[in-house]
Amino acid sequence: MLGSIIWFGLGLALLYFTWKIGLGMLRSMTSTLPPPPPAGEMRRINVRYRCSSCGTELRMTMAPDQDPPPPKHCLEEMDLIAPVD
Ligand SMILES: [Zn+2]
Repeated sequence: MLGSIIWFGLGLALLYFTWKIGLGMLRSMTSTLPPPPPAGEMRRINVRYRCSSCGTELRMTMAPDQDPPPPKHCLEEMDLIAPVD
């Protein structure tokens, strides 16, 4: 009887630690992503990118800064095409 109580306690402790570790991992995963800046701090830009692998083109109209790093497509960074105004 005493033995099963001890095992029950150990199980609870294990559950508790798993929960704590899970929460910590969740927190560290979410904290690696910085929160997006408020809309007022976003820059209106107008640049086009083309994927050198498949030819997809896209236009970026908003970015946190004036000269954002190029997006990725087909696992490669897209080429900047001349800004359109
Ligand atoms: Zn592509």
